[in-house]
Amino acid sequence: MISLHISVPQYLTSSSQTDPKKLMTERGDFLRTVRRELKQEIFYSRSVLVSGVKSNDEVWSFDFRPRCANDNQIVSEPSMHEWLIKRGDVEGSPFEDQMQIYVAPNVVLACEKGCHQELQFGEEGRLKCLANIKQFISYDEMIAWLEGLPPFGGKTQEAMRWIEQNWEK
Ligand SMILES: [Zn+2]
Repeated sequence: MISLHISVPQYLTSSSQTDPKKLMTERGDFLRTVRRELKQEIFYSRSVLVSGVKSNDEVWSFDFRPRCANDNQIVSEPSMHEWLIKRGDVEGSPFEDQMQIYVAPNVVLACEKGCHQELQFGEEGRLKCLANIKQFISYDEMIAWLEGLPPFGGKTQEAMRWIEQNWEK
């Protein structure tokens, strides 16, 4: 079962922190760590075998790489894209709420440059992300994640409706 909830340590959620600058830094560190771990997890769980090489001493080594959500090409150094609920959608929400978008149903991998940008805009990009994510995430997991989210000013409901309309079960 994939993780659909990020547990945020209490010292990062407390508004009683005396040093706001330190709090900002620590939140930034936590966010980067969570994203890095998530990216590593999906890099391997969404990879396909691209080559297997047998060395002189008869030991096989295998090479696994994921596919880009935009052009479906094998990508060695992808970037990770939050596709359904975006960072901008959660801006201004409590930190603990914001962190809930960094989970597997909400991220896809894409080529660093052109592809990542193409996915960010419009309905076409969203549909490409959906086609990619459906290979790894079940409809029930997607809905379970969305149901656990705060409203984010209506963005969560909008996303839920879009999923229900576009996910061909
Ligand atoms: Zn690509």
